[in-house]
Amino acid sequence: MLPRPKKRLGQHFLTDRHYLDRIVAEIAPRAGEAMVEIGPGPGALTERLAAIVRPLHVVEIDRDLAAALRARFPADAVVVHEGDALDFDLGSLPEGLRVVGNLPYNVSTPLLFHVAAFAPRIRDCVFMLQKEVVDRMVAAPGTADYGRLSVMLQYRFAMALAFRVPPGAFTPPPKVDSAIVRMQPLGEGRLAARDEARFGQVVAAAFSQRRKTLRNALRALVDEAAFARAGVDPQRRGETLSVAEFVALADAADR
Ligand code: SAM
Repeated sequence: MLPRPKKRLGQHFLTDRHYLDRIVAEIAPRAGEAMVEIGPGPGALTERLAAIVRPLHVVEIDRDLAAALRARFPADAVVVHEGDALDFDLGSLPEGLRVVGNLPYNVSTPLLFHVAAFAPRIRDCVFMLQKEVVDRMVAAPGTADYGRLSVMLQYRFAMALAFRVPPGAFTPPPKVDSAIVRMQPLGEGRLAARDEARFGQVVAAAFSQRRKTLRNALRALVDEAAFARAGVDPQRRGETLSVAEFVALADAADR
């Protein structure tokens, strides 16, 4: 029987076998892999993954669900980390880590930023998220969905929407459509800003007021000479810049 879902923890449990099978096929787990599942809940996905990957690490904030998982799976099959995934040190798990899960939608953006900080250690991520969030993650410059989340994640990952999942696949059904997204860290040769903190500041400021030109939005960070060095017209708006142009701007501002 399913435990009573707690709304404040974003608990919508996947109960549709067809979609569970498709998600497992998308993850394609293999014996010997290092894998962590975020938000295992009652364990529908956990059970399927732990049949192949040993040990499977899981991070669950709900004390009751964590206790139920410990009781259900032997400790050498599933290692239950009880706590907030936003505080969980992914660096404590082996390199080449695969990160998966049907994420709690109420903390999806901070969780994506948290995971992104460990990108160099990660092999890939396969997440279920609100479809609207996935649309923003994969959005191209110049589109309505393109924003800070798109730039900050595309800076580190190649991302693709794998397939959609309807509300009816969950108990209780969420109000929104969901989608599976695959995230693959870009390799060593990727474009990297000289100062990543500065890059983050420039991107945040550029999108803080979408209607403003870059000249106005970035007044405190980028002067005219830096715009010229980066080859970016200050009359443009942030939503039109590619990730490479943001990197050029941050590097030019950093001189
Ligand atoms: N994976 C399960 C499934 O598909 O049925 C549950 C998915 S449910 C959308 C999200 C799960 O994440 C819940 O079990 C919830 O308790 C857990 N959760 C919520 N916030 C969390 C956090 N900050 N850290 C870790 N787990 C969290």
